[in-house]
Amino acid sequence: MKLHEYQSKNIFSKFGIPIPKGRVATTAQEAKQIAEELGGRVVVKSQVLVGGRGKAGGVKLAKDPAEAEQLATQILGMEIKGLPVRKVLVDEASAIDQEIYFAITDDRAAKKPVLIISAAGGVDIEEVAAKTPEKIIKVNIDPLLGLREYQARDVAVAIDLPRDYWRDFTKIAMGLWQVYQSTDASLAEINPLVITKDKKMLALDGKMMIDDNALFRQPELAEMRDTDEDAPAEIEVRKYGLSFIKLDGDIGCMVNGAGLAMTSMDVIKLFGGEPANFLDVGGGAGAEKVAAAMRIILTDPNVKAVLFNIFGGITRCDEVAKGILVAMDEVKPKVPMVVRLVGTNAEEGRRLLENANMITAETLADAAKKAVAAAKG
Ligand code: GDP
Ligand code: MN
Repeated sequence: MKLHEYQSKNIFSKFGIPIPKGRVATTAQEAKQIAEELGGRVVVKSQVLVGGRGKAGGVKLAKDPAEAEQLATQILGMEIKGLPVRKVLVDEASAIDQEIYFAITDDRAAKKPVLIISAAGGVDIEEVAAKTPEKIIKVNIDPLLGLREYQARDVAVAIDLPRDYWRDFTKIAMGLWQVYQSTDASLAEINPLVITKDKKMLALDGKMMIDDNALFRQPELAEMRDTDEDAPAEIEVRKYGLSFIKLDGDIGCMVNGAGLAMTSMDVIKLFGGEPANFLDVGGGAGAEKVAAAMRIILTDPNVKAVLFNIFGGITRCDEVAKGILVAMDEVKPKVPMVVRLVGTNAEEGRRLLENANMITAETLADAAKKAVAAAKG
């Protein structure tokens, strides 16, 4: 689960990381009022759960409350990478001397958290990572010992941070470690961590991702979920308890069982296709769940063909077939569909789908080949 900038920074602040003064507004009038309260220059920042807001015009400086109102009107009317802006954060503006990238995230290969830092932070950090990766420093953290102060000191030296800032930086680094650890975060990122012209260190931006599997023990964080930001598909996924991950290909997949879903995706690739999603409807899926899964697959405009690979066990193939029929009636799909049913009640399932205008297949290889051919038109 992603948190908004304002939510992340509120958490940072609780752990002693300095942030600019500011508040969230949902209307331009409110933004103006916050700017009046803050006095002086402010920055108006779109709150959407994507990166690169600055480059998209979603972060703007205002010299006075009137301009803040005007910019808020403009930003609240924007869409950034397909997401409508519903809230803006109005922060006291900072005069920036240096922008540092600083994050703690999971390093799966090392099986440890990792601290990542660069003196060349800000909006072009992706470019820095691509072109001058040596400017990015990584230090693994022992999960049992936690971040040690000497490690924070070491990276401060490594990025040539002037000695005057070591104390502040160490406090921020220890704070960010506390944030990461105590919230079950998979990412706690400050970009930029700035040094201001009046020589203060501030977290100007904040981004956090919380491990969904830990939300059961993070009820306060779970409450922060902004369902406005979820694609309608994600809401359905949670409602029906499906495992769904959208991918970039054009063959929609509906499979029961995670292992079978992975295999199906591999076999699609083996025959030159690209899966549009991973979808595990789970064991014992009934017609309603199958129909929901199919609606989700078909809302993806990239999907040019759908592959159903159902291995009946506890899941009954006739139930799945009923779900497919319900969904077809509702969604009226225009893309070809390939179906492979084996196992419990497969015969009944196939009979139900006889008049449904679907391409049938005996084996997974056969089904994948047919789906790839169908997607290529
Ligand atoms: P992002 O583009 O989504 O990462 O949004 P950020 O909050 O990181 O803002 C993007 C950029 O806007 C930052 O890297 C800064 O260069 C600039 N910026 C943000 N807040 C301020 C501010 O208070 N003062 C100044 N001068 N620049 C700011
Ligand atoms: Mn940023």
